[in-house]
Amino acid sequence: MSYLYRTLFLSLLLFCLSTPLVDKNSLAKQSIFDERKALYLKTAAVTGVPWTILAACDQYERNIHRLRTTTNTNEDLIGIKMDEHLWVGLLNPNPKDTNPKSIAFFQGQGKDGNGDGIIDIHSPEDVLYSYASILSLGGPGLDNEKIALWKMYHRGKTVEMITEYAKLYQHFNTTQLEDHAFPVPVHMNYDYQSTWGARRGWGGLRIHEGTDIFADYGTPVLATSYGVIEMMGWNKYGGWRVGLRDPQNNYHYFGHLRGYANNIHEGSVIKPGQVIGYVGSSGYGPEGTQGKFPPHLHYGMYRDNGRTEFSFDPYPYLRTWETKSLQQHK
Ligand SMILES: [Zn+2]
Repeated sequence: MSYLYRTLFLSLLLFCLSTPLVDKNSLAKQSIFDERKALYLKTAAVTGVPWTILAACDQYERNIHRLRTTTNTNEDLIGIKMDEHLWVGLLNPNPKDTNPKSIAFFQGQGKDGNGDGIIDIHSPEDVLYSYASILSLGGPGLDNEKIALWKMYHRGKTVEMITEYAKLYQHFNTTQLEDHAFPVPVHMNYDYQSTWGARRGWGGLRIHEGTDIFADYGTPVLATSYGVIEMMGWNKYGGWRVGLRDPQNNYHYFGHLRGYANNIHEGSVIKPGQVIGYVGSSGYGPEGTQGKFPPHLHYGMYRDNGRTEFSFDPYPYLRTWETKSLQQHK
């Protein structure tokens, strides 16, 4: 074999060996979203609960359990975890019961979703069908579903988040909404450092829950993720501010804005990179106070653990999104 042919053959071999690996990963990712959606649609068809609500509940539970476990639950088909005692019925003497007759007798929540004659708490079909059956008890319609969710979680914030996720899934007709963007255009002037946790003086001693991105007045502020605008308005610390909720359990907070983009209001569905406002220096006083510090965007990230919301350092995420945006602008 000539040198040329050998080189060609070797590169072809390397090409064949390397490309399927890349494709396999993205295909696996794509297929789990497809598989989940197929199960949501199937369960929606038999219970009458919209697939978007089921997907939102499932994502909410996935988010919460991800915080409480060290194992990677992202690849599990279903994020919902049912209570083992309620599953078989509180008075059921057999905690591992899988028999539809005895579980029904003890009024367990478990139901046979895939028709295989056993009720299995480890079967995604059985779990989602059982969960959806509880949700459907109050009757059809978003208001009834919200009441059923309230009875399930006893927490307004949880109901609000699930409703927001469902709105996003409905709008984009997918649950694959994981893209991000840097919060100011990367070709403009800006500067930021890691300052999360630094002490703050104004308005009592608080820690700095975010990263300050210094930029000129009027620099567009971009949404960092897909999400729903959960909050807008004045606050004496943050000035004119926006709170954006994404379905991966991040609440993105943008503070000290000069103003908001047109067509942005509470409940708006937002895409990453979309202009939501403009850099300013509002805050540290009564409504309309500006210019008490240099113009900058205060960007904070928060996560919900099912009971309360906590702040975490956005700096590493900002670095990642910035690098990606810079690569796209080349
Ligand atoms: Zn700040």
